[in-house]
Amino acid sequence: MKKKVVMLLLTMIFLLSCTGITYAYTYYGSGHNIAHFHLQNDCTTTLYNTAITSSKSAWTNTSTPVYFLSSNDTDHYHGIENYSYADTTNAYYSPSWWEYIFFGRATVFTIYLNDYKLSNATDNYRQSVIVHELGHAFCLDDNPAESPSIMRYDRNRETMIVPQQDDIDGVNEYY
Ligand SMILES: [Zn+2]
Repeated sequence: MKKKVVMLLLTMIFLLSCTGITYAYTYYGSGHNIAHFHLQNDCTTTLYNTAITSSKSAWTNTSTPVYFLSSNDTDHYHGIENYSYADTTNAYYSPSWWEYIFFGRATVFTIYLNDYKLSNATDNYRQSVIVHELGHAFCLDDNPAESPSIMRYDRNRETMIVPQQDDIDGVNEYY
């Protein structure tokens, strides 16, 4: 009888440790409906050109369904624009149309870059920010627990400039 109880406890501990191996990535429901689109650079400055190009490559080079079309093939807008506002926001992702009008994933979005924060930043820093915002477009939410992730606010934006394994796993689950 005692042996059975011990076996049961060991089994429970084993199962608990298995369920403990969870992925950190979390779902963001207003990502784009498909993992490829044309990303139009509508910034009024050339400051971000290098970072935008390298951010697209950083995502394209992952083992995910992600890629970027070279020109618009639909009337759906997906763009990057800049603005300037004196606060701590680097950038934000703004969905503006949804698959089923009131719900579903986004079919139209704009990524806004804040000149106030980014005009004097390094290209690495800008890339970290743009790769992060594109993460939202690929259905990744902010601040997944534990794992290194481009979606974490506490990442080093000078050194973490490409999607991490947890980000890649998330995108592969969602597309
Ligand atoms: Zn974010």
